[in-house]
Amino acid sequence: MHDEARPDIAASPRTVVKIGSSSLTRNGAIDDARIVALTDAIAARVGRGHQVLLVSSGAIATGMAPLGLKKRPRDLATQQAAASVGQGLLIARYTDAFSRHRLGVGQVLLTADDLMRRAHYRNAQRTLERLLELNVLPVVNENDTVATDEIRFGDNDRLAALVAHVSRASALILLSDVDGLYDGDPRNGNAIRIDMVTGPGDLANVRAGRTGASGLGRGGMSTKVDSALIATAAGIPTVVTTARDVGKALAGEKTGTYFAPTGQRQSTRLLWLAHAAVARGTVKLDPGAVEAVIDRRASLLPAGITAVTGSFEAGDPVDLTDERGKPVARGIVSYAAKELPSLMGRSTRWLSARLGPEYEREVVHRDDLVIL
Ligand code: GLU
Repeated sequence: MHDEARPDIAASPRTVVKIGSSSLTRNGAIDDARIVALTDAIAARVGRGHQVLLVSSGAIATGMAPLGLKKRPRDLATQQAAASVGQGLLIARYTDAFSRHRLGVGQVLLTADDLMRRAHYRNAQRTLERLLELNVLPVVNENDTVATDEIRFGDNDRLAALVAHVSRASALILLSDVDGLYDGDPRNGNAIRIDMVTGPGDLANVRAGRTGASGLGRGGMSTKVDSALIATAAGIPTVVTTARDVGKALAGEKTGTYFAPTGQRQSTRLLWLAHAAVARGTVKLDPGAVEAVIDRRASLLPAGITAVTGSFEAGDPVDLTDERGKPVARGIVSYAAKELPSLMGRSTRWLSARLGPEYEREVVHRDDLVIL
């Protein structure tokens, strides 16, 4: 009997599945049996008329043997080189495994930053859409040559949430070595698996581990939770479960931890800003500006700023803090840090009269701002 506990996942027309290196490898090398199990489950789902996009790591692990490396390289440049050697081979394995189900595969290499730039976002969206229309299964990984977020922080989880958003997916499945989120360390025996998370409030007492136990993959439970919160805030239900249960998870059966949607679809740039961006500095607001930005959702003007820290350029993410230094919002700033001290406290009218009309612009436009 099927325990279809999660009808939204079961019915999802388009689902993103994310798998990390540690779930694909055994003793440091890619385990073909795991690739086969994963591709079988995904192909079965596609065979029932659903669309799936796969976000897969494993490039570094695949590149180790051809380079004669016994252990994962420690320095970033060699890790990136191994990923470069491994990525093609990894895709070849997926191509082979999916071809047994008469499914084609398209490689898509992305960075979280790409998904923030409007033109790149649109291009990625169009490519993914067309691949799916052509019945080709997109296999996404971080573009390790130019970005190292995953290598450093295990951030393919977050990339997967952004891919779910850009592809307008209706479900996200994050596969892990652990069969879900526990209320404590699952190794200590008395931790309990959490079945369902209805919102960030449910996580108040949960301590999620940072890195995987094997040392191969870098994404611990905490990046999965972050990713699930990004996706659910954008209206995409998310399941975190073990790779072994991918078939069950896709079918909407009860496995792992289900994160219920908490919000509506919103712009990816704002999602990125709220959940993934690292602020390059801070601007401190006077109480009037805090009120204007938070309560009235107004843009931030130079007049409301009392201090600036960090070295940022126009276009960088910055935190907006209150007078005590507590971050209240995050936004894309439209001035460089070194320009702001001479503008602080001045009205836009004064600035445009003295310095020219380009100084009439907001420090952070309301459309480029998220409340924290
Ligand atoms: N994106 C890289 C890969 O696919 C990084 C994975 C990792 O850090 O283990 O191998």
